[in-house]
Amino acid sequence: MINTYKHLFFDLDHTLWDYDKNVAESLSELYEHFQLHTLGIPSFEAFFNAFEQVNYGLWDSFNVGTISKEELRKVRFRRIFQSVAADPDLVPELMEANFMTATSSKPHVIPDTFKILDYLKNSYRLHVITNGFDESQTQKMNASGLTGYFDLIVTSETTGHRKPDKRIFEYALTKLDVRPSECLMIGDNPLSDIAGAQNAGMDQVFFNPKGIACAVRPSYTIQKLMELKGIL
Ligand SMILES: [Mg+2]
Repeated sequence: MINTYKHLFFDLDHTLWDYDKNVAESLSELYEHFQLHTLGIPSFEAFFNAFEQVNYGLWDSFNVGTISKEELRKVRFRRIFQSVAADPDLVPELMEANFMTATSSKPHVIPDTFKILDYLKNSYRLHVITNGFDESQTQKMNASGLTGYFDLIVTSETTGHRKPDKRIFEYALTKLDVRPSECLMIGDNPLSDIAGAQNAGMDQVFFNPKGIACAVRPSYTIQKLMELKGIL
């Protein structure tokens, strides 16, 4: 297919790096390691469900800038304990640090990640734009073998702006000295990736494996990464 794209920007979490699978694995290790059933968490399922609910809520707050990274990390497991009626003062001191280290060192990627990156890397320059933290995003990319595919890795921490703020996209455009029309953003989040890239005048691919609603109309929508072959 003929197009004018030269640069592809990928989101990391839930788009290439399998956040859900990696987190589930590390939470299950934490549950055993800290013997959480002895601290009032009735089951791993309860712990996992509470994590999902609390964590996504906190990330929404982080994404709109109402809480900081430090606050997120400080309250995450306390709120999880509270939500299953366990005493938040019993959260083990090393829990958050262990969670961060364990999760970031997990290697699982979304199906067909390497297949599609190998297909795209010869025709396009590949980059990452992520709202995660520098240290953890670097660890995740190294642990999963993704690092070598990408030229530019832009984080919200480095730029001081989070998607959907157009300034994080403009930072990447300036750094590469390219126009928005030469770029395509690929990501799973309707707000941060799709609306964000639109703000910066870039076309977007909405990676939507679960078929969730998107308030804005993306340039393209795919359910599997291999469908990028039909666009690129
Ligand atoms: Mg994402």
